[in-house]
Amino acid sequence: MRIPLSIAILFCFIGESRAQNKLANQETRFNIFSDGKLPYSAEKPVESWNINDSLALIPAYDLYCEWNTERIHPYKEDLRNMKDTVPLVLVYDSCDFVPPYVGRKSSDFGYRRYRYHYGVDVKLYRGEQVKAAFEGVVRIAQYDGDYGRVVVLRHENGLETLYAHLSKLKVKEGDKVEAGDLVGLGGNTGRSTGSHLHFEIRYKGEPINPNTIIEWETGYLCQDTLMLNKEHFQYLIEVRKRKYHKIRSGDTLSGIARRYGTSVRNLCRLNGIRSTTTLRIGRTLRYN
Ligand SMILES: [Zn+2]
Repeated sequence: MRIPLSIAILFCFIGESRAQNKLANQETRFNIFSDGKLPYSAEKPVESWNINDSLALIPAYDLYCEWNTERIHPYKEDLRNMKDTVPLVLVYDSCDFVPPYVGRKSSDFGYRRYRYHYGVDVKLYRGEQVKAAFEGVVRIAQYDGDYGRVVVLRHENGLETLYAHLSKLKVKEGDKVEAGDLVGLGGNTGRSTGSHLHFEIRYKGEPINPNTIIEWETGYLCQDTLMLNKEHFQYLIEVRKRKYHKIRSGDTLSGIARRYGTSVRNLCRLNGIRSTTTLRIGRTLRYN
């Protein structure tokens, strides 16, 4: 069959423009671990690549001395008695911050029933864009039973931001992101009921109330510099006084009460349950 020349040219044109579109959408993100893509290797290729060469590119490496890409919360700091006030510069310029998502909070930082909620939940629709709040490098981009599809970014000032319950991850470990870069799409993965963004800000693993940094409904940054001190972590004094038992198969309320030297009545009061409530395996029960 012969195809008229004009149609053939048209097909070529469509094919080419599709290819160009594909190229424009392709991942061109700079990854701190990818050999040969380092800024200083642009002129002359790196002779012998060493993982330590990447350490210089890990934000706040001096502060953490580690870069764990498997565990979301690997740190064991306790900042309740933090000695100094640490000034953390959040932005130098107005373009250094972009709200991850602007919307209505559906759940706030603080106690939620009998557990502490270490972030804020912002209502969104599945598939909506979730953006990096600040420039940083992706430490975690994985699936977690609780957080669902989750991204953790490490920032130069030592803060880490966490974006959870995503339906799709748009970054991978080691990716360098700018404020406003897409990290994932909103969703309902992990332990979540209804599409929302669960967002946390942590310093050395200790959660900071995100409301001290971001005004969610307007998308404004509350301050340019966060003067971080022990006041930000005072809530943990109360939280850590509380003790929990993880329910296992065969557990009964009276058995748990006996084990921890308390009463069934006290367990019910602390957990807002009745003595007849079915104990679900894997859930936690506060006993102190
Ligand atoms: Zn949440």
